[in-house]
Amino acid sequence: MLWLNGQLVKAAEATIDLYSQSMHYGYAVFEGIRSYRTASGDTRIFKATEHYDRLRHSALTLNLPYEYSTDELIEATYELLRVNNLQDAYIRPLVYAPANMTFNTNALSHVSIAAWEMAPFLGDKLLRIMSSSFQRPNPKGFHITAKASGHYVNSILASQEAKAKGYDEALLMDMNGHVAEGTGANVFFEKDGRLYTPPPGHILPGITRATVMEICSELQLPVEEKWFTVEEMKDADAAFFCGTAAEVIGWESLDGTPFKLKWNQSVSAVIQQAYADKVVERISKLEIAL
Ligand code: PMP
Repeated sequence: MLWLNGQLVKAAEATIDLYSQSMHYGYAVFEGIRSYRTASGDTRIFKATEHYDRLRHSALTLNLPYEYSTDELIEATYELLRVNNLQDAYIRPLVYAPANMTFNTNALSHVSIAAWEMAPFLGDKLLRIMSSSFQRPNPKGFHITAKASGHYVNSILASQEAKAKGYDEALLMDMNGHVAEGTGANVFFEKDGRLYTPPPGHILPGITRATVMEICSELQLPVEEKWFTVEEMKDADAAFFCGTAAEVIGWESLDGTPFKLKWNQSVSAVIQQAYADKVVERISKLEIAL
């Protein structure tokens, strides 16, 4: 079942108009959310408010009508999980446009929510990353804080290029040549026990990125936002991607250069564990140790 404009419908019976502006121009916004079976057995949507608030921000930023409240959609999502008998799920809300072959603003939009079981998006093994020949979109050409469907053509191209060259995933620069983010995840690196990540401006400011910073503050680990180059990253002790779908996933190498520390000796691995604990509301051994 999926949720479509306020109704639960069978996925096979849901239809979309082929003349939708979203189909032709990538003019839609979406979210990627996860729910978890918590340590106490409950189903919890992780950072539900943050995700649905971002969906509203994305829709309004792109001038898509958006009528639902965050609470209404959170409630609808719990209902969707219940009817599909899901606890550990990936949840995909989408706000899309009606039939409209012009570039004019629409009087209404449609909202769908789908949910399914999904393993970590980038797998669970250390990643071999390639710095991409594709840059992230110019923030003067797109509202890059919006999670807009059309932006993901850039992600698909970069990911396909990296895989065609035998790597696991791509790392993209911004238009100034600084490291920006992955195709669907933010990036951190670790050097001498400190963590670094690009500031907002050329990235989707991820909810997982914010959670990693929250974890750093809980564990009193120093973290800094700054611009940096691929060369600086290659000299790091460790690095990782983080995103709702990917969770926290470490890197083995960047353009073939391995990182200095073994993953399980890095502070980054501690953050990965703390994230895994947080999403299932497990009291972290790390917090007890503090
Ligand atoms: N950057 C991009 C381009 C993304 O698609 C995502 C996934 N939504 C992220 C970063 C990470 O965002 P979040 O942690 O909110 O999932």
